[in-house]
Amino acid sequence: MFELIAGPCSAESKDQVLRIAHEIELIEGVKWFRAGIWKPRTMPNQFEGVGVKGLRWLSEVKKTTSLKTITEVATPLHVEKCLENDIDAIWIGARTTTNPFYVQELSQSLKGVDIPIFIKNPLNPDIKLWVGAIERIMASGSNSIYGIHRGFSFADNGIYRQTPYWKMPIELKRLLPDIPIICDPSHIAGKTSLIKDISQMALNIGLNGLMIEVHNNPKEALTDSKQQITPNALKKLLKVLETPQNSFEDSNPILTLREEIDSLDFELINILKQRMNLVIEVAEIKKERNIPILQIKRLDQMIKKRLEKTKGSILDKDFIKETFESIHQESIRIQNEIFKKK
Ligand code: PEP
Ligand code: MN
Repeated sequence: MFELIAGPCSAESKDQVLRIAHEIELIEGVKWFRAGIWKPRTMPNQFEGVGVKGLRWLSEVKKTTSLKTITEVATPLHVEKCLENDIDAIWIGARTTTNPFYVQELSQSLKGVDIPIFIKNPLNPDIKLWVGAIERIMASGSNSIYGIHRGFSFADNGIYRQTPYWKMPIELKRLLPDIPIICDPSHIAGKTSLIKDISQMALNIGLNGLMIEVHNNPKEALTDSKQQITPNALKKLLKVLETPQNSFEDSNPILTLREEIDSLDFELINILKQRMNLVIEVAEIKKERNIPILQIKRLDQMIKKRLEKTKGSILDKDFIKETFESIHQESIRIQNEIFKKK
């Protein structure tokens, strides 16, 4: 099942909400209309959402279009107000997922409520917090729970507003294979130019849908103005995105390739073992001659030489750097084991 959610970051006025909804309704495949009513802002004294009156605008969207409505909740009172106004589904925002107290309270308030609940990943890349939030909400009895991958906050997010860190949604799939995961490229990107590539990557991996921020006049949007696209841009985007959807049959030629990959990986493990045997010899000499384990010049040279070797290949520079830094760390640990021996 593929879910497409689109709509403004924030509901700003009745006119804006209805205008965007009526345009989005015409775009094939979009099922959900999103709009934030209560907005978690990093700094105080900024626009914090229109509050409950926005829910009435969403009800109007529901009545006058074929779209279903979804908004963010952070407290049991928000849940109560959404239910009173017949909102079809809710999402729990990244800042709320971070806090088990809030998630627990939300779970309590959702007991016996059967609407779809979408749970965004926490801002910090902690898989347990995300899984924990999903499990707490599952305990409310809901039968329709989704994860939303919206990126993670690192000290350096590179070109992104929040790093995609694909490892996390993949890990979530591994731990909770029955939970569909939607990607929110808008909050990962922070700017419109990256939305297409992030969306395509999510689809290539096999994630189960997209949540995209769409505004009639992005430049003037009261929140997240740089990352919102127009309904027309959404229509164009959906036309170019490709969704690999066929299932994996047992006779697939990939199976033979996987066997080859397995044997290469086993070879890699053997090479690593041989490498670490040499490291043990190095450690014994350092110990005997009373030389400290860490030789920072060697580490710098080592990384540099390996980066040179991989230049021009498909291997990513950061991947090589991280891999050899990690191998070096393991080497330091092994050397310390040798130093500990009497
Ligand atoms: C949003 O979807 O507008 C939002 C605030 O999301 P997040 O919780 O991912 O920041
Ligand atoms: Mn937003």
